[in-house]
Amino acid sequence: MGETRTGSCMCGKVQYVVPRDMKTAAKCHCQMCQKSTGTSNFTAAVYGIDDLKITGDLKSYTYTSDAGNSVTHHFCPNCGSKIFITNPTAFPGLALVFAGSLDDSHDLVPQFVVFNKRRPAWDGDNPDIPHFPEMPPA
Ligand SMILES: [Zn+2]
Ligand SMILES: [Zn+2]
Repeated sequence: MGETRTGSCMCGKVQYVVPRDMKTAAKCHCQMCQKSTGTSNFTAAVYGIDDLKITGDLKSYTYTSDAGNSVTHHFCPNCGSKIFITNPTAFPGLALVFAGSLDDSHDLVPQFVVFNKRRPAWDGDNPDIPHFPEMPPA
């Protein structure tokens, strides 16, 4: 067993371990990913489904994508945090882990972007506005 990294939901009832090295990482700006995350994109850390070791109970929600695929979101029933997506037709054997659920994702580099036509103009860093390392001073 090589190096691993850990992740969890907000409340901590769902915990997981994955290998340190992911297969790839990507951002999706499709409308369902925006609805699901409440922000401009879903950033996926991609692992083999068998490499994702979960403790805690998950709930799931399945919908049919525009391409006709069955897409299932797996989330913590207590706090609602999304943990991963499965889409066996398009991505057999893979778990698309919500990158923000990783405890440490600083080294994640998205390799490509899909549904860029739906990327909202407000997704993009504006160097001309103030940037605070944490919350701004009162
Ligand atoms: Zn939770
Ligand atoms: Zn999407």
